[in-house]
Amino acid sequence: MGLWNYYFICKLILFWIGYIDFHVLANILFALVLIIPIKNRFLRLNRIVLGILVATTHLYYDSKLPGFQRLLSAAPSLKGFTAEYMLELVSRFINPKIVQGLFLAILVISVLGLKLRITSFVLLFMLGSHPINDILQKYNPANHSPEQENVACSDTDSTNGGAETIANLDTSDKNLDKVLAEFYADQAKISVGLESVKASPETAFDIILFHICSLAWTDIEPADIGPMFADFDVLFKKFNSGASYSGPAAIRLMRGTCGLQPHESLYTATASQCYVHDAFARAGYQTQLMLNHDGQYENFLPSLQMRERGGWVAPLLGELGARVAMKAFYGSPIYDDLDVLTRWLEQKRSSISGPVALYYNTISLHDGNKLLNQTGGSTIDTYNLRLKELITDYKKFLDVIKKTKRPTLVLFVPEHGASLHGDALQIPGMREIPSPEITIVPTGMNLVNFPGKDNWKQVVIDKPTSYTAAFTLIANLIHNNSISVPLLDRMDIAKLPTTPFLAQNEQTLIMGYGSKFFLRDPSGKWSEYKSTRR
Ligand SMILES: [Zn+2]
Repeated sequence: MGLWNYYFICKLILFWIGYIDFHVLANILFALVLIIPIKNRFLRLNRIVLGILVATTHLYYDSKLPGFQRLLSAAPSLKGFTAEYMLELVSRFINPKIVQGLFLAILVISVLGLKLRITSFVLLFMLGSHPINDILQKYNPANHSPEQENVACSDTDSTNGGAETIANLDTSDKNLDKVLAEFYADQAKISVGLESVKASPETAFDIILFHICSLAWTDIEPADIGPMFADFDVLFKKFNSGASYSGPAAIRLMRGTCGLQPHESLYTATASQCYVHDAFARAGYQTQLMLNHDGQYENFLPSLQMRERGGWVAPLLGELGARVAMKAFYGSPIYDDLDVLTRWLEQKRSSISGPVALYYNTISLHDGNKLLNQTGGSTIDTYNLRLKELITDYKKFLDVIKKTKRPTLVLFVPEHGASLHGDALQIPGMREIPSPEITIVPTGMNLVNFPGKDNWKQVVIDKPTSYTAAFTLIANLIHNNSISVPLLDRMDIAKLPTTPFLAQNEQTLIMGYGSKFFLRDPSGKWSEYKSTRR
């Protein structure tokens, strides 16, 4: 087959390291057509041209990349990106480490090829490609991620986080559709009510929903996790945000007093008790809204404020004259988190006496943001720097609140991860597939100036949770707002609701079932989702 051998060798290597699939029959048939000896030069030339076309379509067919239709449907959301960011995204399709590895393999094989008949070996390896892959997968430590095992849901009891053995699971499309329908039916029964604080507004605590775009556990360097989250009073280790895009994730938080809803329901009105804004307003809170950006990308802000979507109808406070810290991936300014928040606190103290519930949204960590002094370079390289800055700002803001002496509950909750490393299905920064690596996010709570916090040890919630757990905790604290009861008792941690894993975007859904994850593609077909880090 001459040079064509290298095409098949590269594909086999990519298959064995988990980047692509390998359809044996189609590939062998293609190879056989290439082997047939042709004497006529014109026909030979034609075969090369046709071969290149077939090889390209075959490679796409074997790849795990989304179908052309899905790529086209994602295109409108790209049109606001700066040219610089678009270029950066395109360059991520090529993984330099893999290119180097393939080049090295080709070099070694071409040296061996001087002595051996490579074509026979390539055909043999193609025939044995799947058994070889099974052996490689068995001994691949990346396939045994313990973090994932408890977050998937089980068939028999979708509220316990999945204790069932997986050997006998029915993973047919029909059954997975049924499990999904049951999941949403169960979720529809859950709602959290908040009690009124109107009788004693002076002792009620303030609430800040600190909503962060682009931060999942997988985006953080392992060594940084401990120091970053040690000061959280409560830490949710398996909190699922349910979506991998900002818009739906924000609506999910805004409806966090009810269980998770199907993606399409997020854009039509829901029951009044599901709107967090209304729950706070009814309880006696003055609601406020602030972002560190203009909120115009993909109609983020209007969608939040729309009655039938997010329902956070409070008017936008604006950036209050804060310092610009970055330029966003779509070109507009991003304001310094600490500066915006400190200015807000000053303004609030001078103008409002009763309890306040603020929704704050930051995009400081979003992919494609440029620091003011940054020229060129990948924005992935500045992620860690921006993350450390955000956490420092967050901690400094808590110190500022501490000085006011006013009890304040801050819920630190990310929208979704940054997909910093990407996987076999999507390049770094892309989030079309709402995988657990993107939607299981580090969520925490700080109870600043709360009485009864002497000798406090961080409470870690290790079970799979989502918004209802956070709002149940808030409801418990509002309900038992009495300094005579120890704070920990007031929180009633053991009874917090668990939520089996489910995350959804417009076209794609991932559901935990048994200890595995299943992906439902836009055509409604299910397949097992395995994480493969790029
Ligand atoms: Zn976001």
